[in-house]
Amino acid sequence: MTNIVIASGKGGTGKTLVATSLALAAAERGACALLDADVEEPNAALFLGVHVEVVADVVRKVPVVDQTKCTHCGICAQVCQFNAIAVLPNKTLVFEELCHGCGSCERQCPESAIREEGRKSGVIEGGRVDGLRFAQGVMEVGEAMSPPIIRDLKRYARERGWYDTGDVIMDAPPGTACPVVEALRGADCALLVTEPTPFGLHDLVLAVQVAREIWSLPVGVVVNKDRAGVTLIDEYCREEDLPIVMRIPLERRIAEAYSRGIPLLRAGLGYEQPFAELLARARSLARGERP
Ligand code: SF4
Ligand code: SF4
Repeated sequence: MTNIVIASGKGGTGKTLVATSLALAAAERGACALLDADVEEPNAALFLGVHVEVVADVVRKVPVVDQTKCTHCGICAQVCQFNAIAVLPNKTLVFEELCHGCGSCERQCPESAIREEGRKSGVIEGGRVDGLRFAQGVMEVGEAMSPPIIRDLKRYARERGWYDTGDVIMDAPPGTACPVVEALRGADCALLVTEPTPFGLHDLVLAVQVAREIWSLPVGVVVNKDRAGVTLIDEYCREEDLPIVMRIPLERRIAEAYSRGIPLLRAGLGYEQPFAELLARARSLARGERP
């Protein structure tokens, strides 16, 4: 029962390639759920051939100001850490796309002029394939806040007992901002997928900072598109005492399988054993051991 988050500092590094095959490998050995938290563009279901259905709406709370009660005192704008409120002489404006739904403005308003209203910001979709439990968050078009969708995706898995009855593997959103911080919250370990390029290294450094410094997670590195003689990721991992838990070589046949939507584990390229080993290493990391 290991909670593994697959992340990377940027998109296009092979995060979904690793997450889907690792989940299939885990599902062959026991109960496993794959959560696709790349809510702006979830695509793991396409690789797995899962038929998904909407199972829940994601609703986030946003403040609404009753302009007839508002005295334009400015307190709500002062307490908002996210600059989501502007108090003008005749109107108080809420910028919903900046609002994190913390509720401070409603609690602090001396005139009780603020109430919270629900706004649909996305949906949770669920399905099942080859014994693998699957769920994904999907953001509404025009929505700017993805952390509430990721929180609800985890809640959906928690309410079904998935964290208590098997492995949970999450395909995190790309980048190193709030959505990734939310995805990594509560994980047992993080596998960070990178490429051996200067850009890949730059983004890996940021992702390591998020996983280690914010959540103190054990981290393993997966080098995708690995090439002989290119050692910049190896050198960084040595300096930081980070284990490289898997290498996927830069090979045309891997890219072809990926472009045809075939999980690497199912591509007939001999990746059954490497993903079984990756699963074992992730479990070791989660136990605090050096894989
Ligand atoms: S705190 Fe309340 S009364 Fe003051 S500006 Fe904000 S909404 Fe208006
Ligand atoms: S709920 Fe929080 S984040 Fe949203 S406007 Fe109010 S104080 Fe700002």
